[in-house]
Amino acid sequence: MQRLGLVRDIDLALHLPLRWEDETRLAPIGGLRDGQTAQVQGTVREARVELRGRRQLIVSIQDDSGAAITLRFLHFYGSQVKAWVPGVMLRVRGEVRVGLLGREMVHPAVRLVAADTPLADRLTPVYPTTAQLPQAYLRKAVAAGLARAQLGEILPPGALPAGLPALREALHTLHHPPPRASLLALEDRSHPAWQRLKAEELLAQQLSQLQARREREQLRAPALAARPGGLHEKLLGVLPFQLTGAQRRVGEEIAADLARTQPMHRLLQGDVGSGKTVVAALAAAIAIDAGWQCALMAPTEILAEQHFRKLVDWLTPLGVQVAWLTGSQRSKQREAMLAAVASGDAALVVGTHAVIQDQVRFCKLGLALIDEQHRFGVAQRLSLRAKLVEQRLEPHLLMMSATPIPRTLAMTYYADLDVSTLDELPPGRTPIVTRVFADSRREEVMQRIRDAVEQGRQVYWVCPLIEESEESEQGGEREQGRRGAADTGAGMGRSVGDIGAGMGRSVADTGARVSRQALQNVTDTHALLSEVIGPGADGQPRVGLLHGRMKARDKAEVMDAFAAGRLAVLVATTVIEVGVDVPNASLMVIEHAERFGLSQLHQLRGRVGRGAEASTCVLLYSPPLSPTGRERLKAMAETTDGFEIARRDLAIRGPGEFMGSRQSGEAMLRFADLQQDQALLDHAREAARWLWAEHPQAARTHIERWLASRAEYLKA
Ligand code: ADP
Ligand code: MG
Repeated sequence: MQRLGLVRDIDLALHLPLRWEDETRLAPIGGLRDGQTAQVQGTVREARVELRGRRQLIVSIQDDSGAAITLRFLHFYGSQVKAWVPGVMLRVRGEVRVGLLGREMVHPAVRLVAADTPLADRLTPVYPTTAQLPQAYLRKAVAAGLARAQLGEILPPGALPAGLPALREALHTLHHPPPRASLLALEDRSHPAWQRLKAEELLAQQLSQLQARREREQLRAPALAARPGGLHEKLLGVLPFQLTGAQRRVGEEIAADLARTQPMHRLLQGDVGSGKTVVAALAAAIAIDAGWQCALMAPTEILAEQHFRKLVDWLTPLGVQVAWLTGSQRSKQREAMLAAVASGDAALVVGTHAVIQDQVRFCKLGLALIDEQHRFGVAQRLSLRAKLVEQRLEPHLLMMSATPIPRTLAMTYYADLDVSTLDELPPGRTPIVTRVFADSRREEVMQRIRDAVEQGRQVYWVCPLIEESEESEQGGEREQGRRGAADTGAGMGRSVGDIGAGMGRSVADTGARVSRQALQNVTDTHALLSEVIGPGADGQPRVGLLHGRMKARDKAEVMDAFAAGRLAVLVATTVIEVGVDVPNASLMVIEHAERFGLSQLHQLRGRVGRGAEASTCVLLYSPPLSPTGRERLKAMAETTDGFEIARRDLAIRGPGEFMGSRQSGEAMLRFADLQQDQALLDHAREAARWLWAEHPQAARTHIERWLASRAEYLKA
């Protein structure tokens, strides 16, 4: 029960049925149809244990009309054989099969009854449950909770849309609908009782988001004002390009936040390749110039290292010391870095999760940047914020994501988040052409790659493989949050696509172990491509291999060689998924594309199309495709717009999956559906503001009723 969050009476009362069974009437046996689920009642005519292949109990019952049905049990107890003897009356419920031998039910639910045993006067609820929690037990517990729960009206009139039933009435209807209730309206959740619950739930969520925002506004952060002629302007001077209009606008939004004494809580979203890194670097420059430290955390070592190099290039000439922290580094180097961070000598710290480990003490952290924030869990985001609590000032927080959040989702889940959007790509990009082929054409694709390499192009070849966490394989640290994610999310050895490859997936839930066979797949592909392409004029190999099992140093070496153009082809697993930036690469092949999630495919594809060269992405799939697999590949072929991809992803997966709720434990809507319940959401947004202003006590009580057990998550 605890696992289901069923602790308080109100939790039980709000644990609503998945569906209902109609035990309010008896069907005449003679009228049963094949496939129908029905309740019938009859007298046992015959009962025997048979040995047909395996032991089974066969009971035949007959109702008043004389029609008979056979009940078949493969598992049964001696007590049942004793009880179900000719002459007794049974009430049974199950699925009817009509075959050559007549009507039959296999393992129906059976009750011994008398002719006058009354029928249920309400539909019977079937609750979502979990292993080892029997439905019958749960039913009793919920009924008891419902009876005890305080269901009095909390909200003043107008807080909810007019014309809905009272909460108590709505709950009683949903748990125990009267026989005349429309099962259809109950099941598609259009029934007024459902509307009431959904309206309440949305209101609770909007209220708690507003509350989180207010609490944050009470916190204090250092005011980091940009000086004219300061470090960020110097940085602008050394950049090899002009900012896009979108970068300039977003840069100003961030600068305005930084200058305030409330901590910034902003999401910077922009499609892959829209240039988020430089915007983050400019924010860092402002913080550093104001005399504060800045931390940048990235989900993978490859990405963190790439950021590190770029920032060192940009900022060390301007006199900024940049420190590097990762789980795989030698302890001596690590200690030196930790000391530089603690003393404040290092103004900027770049790294992986290692940045939020306990041993890391900042001198004065003023700004935290999180790249690809959806790859981190809630706990991790919180712990970066906690880094400054000792000094009673919170750092400003800027999160970056290439997976845009559609507007309705942003309104629902992130009312406590300010969003800046880079809606413009740097100039000179040519759109990526995407082609989808069955993998029977793999050889042909390899030949084409050879031709492309002869023309001087660089190519990624991506193989699906569960990518182990980069740090755990180094024997490095692992945080609780990541562990938790691994437990609830991916089973080990499952392919990436199965996991849903969602936004909310944090790095480590991809599982700690790679199946041998998958590893074999990349190494085989590497060998085959090496053969097809052959060595370069200098006799050196032109095909590189990159996967998470390699040592950090070897990975860095391969990435270097590819970035410098010494390698023409990089056969890689999804270690290259996020952020990797090699502008000269213009061709990508993704094997078993059907196994990847849509946002992941989009991320991968974003590794090409970063230069002026026209780029191509080839998606290889092995038939047959599932309907959702087909939808995903179709979406990829039809659009390169990350916002459109996100919309389609949402349509294919639904908001729960989309947000990766199961991994992050973030409070999710249980009843409301964002597509269907837009009108209720709009009402809830308005009402939430009004309630906090006019009826704050009612607002608090309502949040308490709905969300008490999940409150911490809402603030993350
Ligand atoms: P993302 O938003 O995916 O993190 P990056 O920050 O990696 O994108 O930027 C993608 C590429 O575009 C990088 O090579 C970066 O140097 C380049 N870039 C960023 N801004 C501009 C610009 N205004 N003009 C030209 N190139 C830019
Ligand atoms: Mg990036």
